[in-house]
Amino acid sequence: MSIQVNSICKTYGNQKALDKVSFEIGSNEIVGFLGPNGAGKSTMMKILTCFIPPTSGQAKVFGFDIINESIEVRKQIGYLPEHNPLYLDMYVKEFLEFVGGLHQISKIKNRVKEMIEVTGLQAEQTKKIGALSKGYRQRVGLAQAMIHNPKVLILDEPTTGLDPNQLEDIRFLIKNLGKEKTVMLSTHIMQEVEAICDKVIIINQGIIVANDETKNLQKNNIKQIITVEFDKSISIQLLQSIPDINQSIHLHNNTWQLISNSKNDIRKDIFDFAVSNQLSVLTLNKEEQKMEDVFKQFTSKKS
Ligand code: ADP
Repeated sequence: MSIQVNSICKTYGNQKALDKVSFEIGSNEIVGFLGPNGAGKSTMMKILTCFIPPTSGQAKVFGFDIINESIEVRKQIGYLPEHNPLYLDMYVKEFLEFVGGLHQISKIKNRVKEMIEVTGLQAEQTKKIGALSKGYRQRVGLAQAMIHNPKVLILDEPTTGLDPNQLEDIRFLIKNLGKEKTVMLSTHIMQEVEAICDKVIIINQGIIVANDETKNLQKNNIKQIITVEFDKSISIQLLQSIPDINQSIHLHNNTWQLISNSKNDIRKDIFDFAVSNQLSVLTLNKEEQKMEDVFKQFTSKKS
């Protein structure tokens, strides 16, 4: 395991930010850490990167304890904090050499050159960081996070504020990094999770509410929402006789919205129901649920 978190709690004064949080992340996984604002994502990331201590609980990174072996933990981790704080008056190369020096890297110039290539900063390397666009600043943030060749990357909202082209570039970069590193990233963008994350951990009000592979999370938590129009009016009681229907909502005239938590496609049951009740189906539409819906389902349960 790359990361093992065991019953971590964190309180700021009276504010409980994390409540017995436990999870594990395997090597070379890209894990999306999701949750509404204030859920505790940054707090968890700051604890894992040894920026702040937990109030209680333990966590290990490649077997090193975050409290007793924090120097070793820091060597294993590259961290891109929220808002990507950078020295705007420094030149890209100069800044990366400075960060490399802090990590006591040998052959700093070679390593900086390598990072500039990996993050696609060649054309910007002689510019001041303050003169770079947001997308290129993110690349500098990623380069500084990776300069000591850590096994784990912790990226706090790495794509916030990027334009669609920059988004695509940075996602591609992260996806590539995930081939040989463990990546834990927080984001609000659900398409990002679908596009790049193998696993998803959802946190709400300091509590882990979901932890699964991205594909399972969608498959296992999907609701079927079907809009159906019959040729005649029918009663809600009659509709309840369709197997696996959890909710029927009357939209207008003879049109209904039927919601089912079943994993089986319920459209055939709706047709069978129509036939046995001498009804014709005039229209039938199935809405696909997206990761956004799964997120809403988990984060609206406890509020
Ligand atoms: P997220 O990253 O998911 O938006 P945070 O970890 O930043 O959430 O915050 C979790 C909770 O802890 C929030 O209620 C926030 O207001 C509170 N919090 C975070 N940092 C501090 C702090 N330094 N002092 C007091 N409360 C804090």
